[in-house]
Amino acid sequence: MRVDEVLKQATNQLQPHSATPRLDAEVLLTWVLNVSKAEMISRLYDTLTVDTLETFWSALERRRKGEPLAYIRGYQEFYGRDFLVSPAVLIPRPETEHLIECCLERCRSSGPLRILDLGTGSGCISVTLACELEARSIAHQITAVDRSVAALGLARENAERYGVAERIQFLEGSWYEPLATDDCFDCLLSNPPYVPRDADNRSPETDFEPPEALFHEKETLESYREIAADCHRYLNPGAFLAVEHGQGQSDAVGDIFREAPIGELLFTSGIIRDLAGIDRIFFLETKSF
Ligand code: GLN
Repeated sequence: MRVDEVLKQATNQLQPHSATPRLDAEVLLTWVLNVSKAEMISRLYDTLTVDTLETFWSALERRRKGEPLAYIRGYQEFYGRDFLVSPAVLIPRPETEHLIECCLERCRSSGPLRILDLGTGSGCISVTLACELEARSIAHQITAVDRSVAALGLARENAERYGVAERIQFLEGSWYEPLATDDCFDCLLSNPPYVPRDADNRSPETDFEPPEALFHEKETLESYREIAADCHRYLNPGAFLAVEHGQGQSDAVGDIFREAPIGELLFTSGIIRDLAGIDRIFFLETKSF
C-alpha cells in the first residue's frame, strides 16, 4: 500500500473517533516511519513495507479506541521539548506553559533560586525550568515532589535526557510531606488535580490519564487548600507562588490563598489567562521583609 492510500484509509477510519482524523493519521505515520511531515509528503507514492503497515495499523487501532497520541507515541512536546510520558502521568498541556512563562518573568534574581514543584508528574515543569534558567545563567536548585513512584521515575528520566538531573531533587510524598522542616523556596509552582469529577466538558484524553493527577479524592479544590495551608512555612520573603487551576475556579482559588496564613504575608496576587482567554493561573508574591 502507498503512503497516500494509507493516509486516506486511516483518516476515514478515524473519522468517527477523532476531531482531527487526518492530522492524527499523519502524526502516527510520521512517527512509525521516523520522518518529518515534509519528508513523508515528499514520499506520498512510496509503497510501505509489511512491517511498517503492521505497526501503523496497530497504533491506529489504539487511537480508534480513544487513546491519546502522546501515550501511543510515548512522548509529548512541551515548551519546545519532547517529554517522555506514560499512563502514569498527566500529558503536558499547552496551558501549563504559562506557569513556566510567569515564573521566568519574575525570577530575575541572579540566584541561586530554590524552586519547589508540587505534583511534578512527567517533570515537564521542573525540567523546562532547569533548561530555561540555565540558558539565562540563573543558578537554581529544584525540588520536584510526587506521590507516584512511577511518575518520579519518568520525571527523572526526562531530567537525564536534558542533562539537568543533578539540579533537580526528586522526592516521593504528598505535597510538603517529604521536605525538611527548614527547607525554604523562592518559588513554588504546581499544576495540581483540579478537574471536577462530574465535569461534562472533560477533554477525551482524561479517560486514559491517571485519575489522581486529575481529580482530588475528596473535593475538587482540596489540592489548593492543602497547598495553601502550609506554603507560608516553606516560602522565603519575596517569594513567588503560582498554581494552575480550572475554568471558573479563579475566585475560589484566590480566596483559599488569601484566607490561609500566607494571606498575612501577601505583597501582591493576580490571575493569568491562557491563550483561550480562560483564567488559568493564580499567582502571589510574598512581602520581601
Ligand atoms: N488541564 C487538565 C484538563 O483540563 C487538567 C490538569 C489538572 O487537573 N491539573 O484536562
